[in-house]
Amino acid sequence: MLVHIGRIVNKKIIGKYAIPAFNTQDLETTQGIVRAAEKQKAPVIIQTSVGALEYAGIEELVGIIKTEARRAKVPVALHQDHCHDFSLIKKLINLGYSSVMIDASHLPYRENIRLTRTVVSYAHKRGVWVQAEIGRILGNEDWQKVRSGKDLMTEPAQAAEFAAETQVDTLAVAVGSVHGIPVNPKIKRILRTLKEHIDLPRLKAIKKKVKIPLVLHGASGVTDTEIKAAIKAGVAVFNIDTDLRVAFNTALRQNLKKHPQIYDPRKILTPATLALQMMAEKKIKLLKANNKGRK
Ligand SMILES: [Zn+2]
Repeated sequence: MLVHIGRIVNKKIIGKYAIPAFNTQDLETTQGIVRAAEKQKAPVIIQTSVGALEYAGIEELVGIIKTEARRAKVPVALHQDHCHDFSLIKKLINLGYSSVMIDASHLPYRENIRLTRTVVSYAHKRGVWVQAEIGRILGNEDWQKVRSGKDLMTEPAQAAEFAAETQVDTLAVAVGSVHGIPVNPKIKRILRTLKEHIDLPRLKAIKKKVKIPLVLHGASGVTDTEIKAAIKAGVAVFNIDTDLRVAFNTALRQNLKKHPQIYDPRKILTPATLALQMMAEKKIKLLKANNKGRK
């Protein structure tokens, strides 16, 4: 069933388990995610990026997700990932998103607060949650390319001030995870200096000061041990995109290589969707969200 994000992300889950926020851009990915959630009886967030909406079309993609979510036997919430366009956010709220991320992290701090507050005021009047980002998460995400290192990590005191001033409902923090697959040599170099680790002391310090649910972006590259530690340290939502894409891609290539004669898109895509579902199930279990989504 399609639910408000507040039904599945709340203070009760913090420290115990976390909700996966999976990205989609098409029917196959959406079905793979929903089937994984149903199989594992898990609540999930399905999220769209600006690029995904451009790829599939807004009404088309939202129509697919809402139809799948409504039919699902588990709670599914709809969230918009990184968005810096207020008019698009308004449109998505009208289409039934229960949560949106205003990403003004490229702006100077005071301007980030100002724009975030404007979005929060609009969204809250309509019962919709807002996520924002403080600090800059490394890597590539749609139009954003963040290349420099440690100085962009979230500062606990600033995170607390930001959360209080903007009244956001969830907060994305930069504590060492990376968007996408790090192929850029500069990012690889930065990661080596950071030892590719989640900065757990920093995360714990943020959690102490910030009482709203924390979100970790770029969780695909984070090790399982660190994910478990991050859940204990207070992360309530993990954004997962790259791992699903890689699973889909690998299976697709293998299938085409093994069966070069197939030309029916259904036969080409079905094994890839299944591989994506398996990966989503693995992530759900890692976050301990399995069996938490019963009606
Ligand atoms: Zn992100």
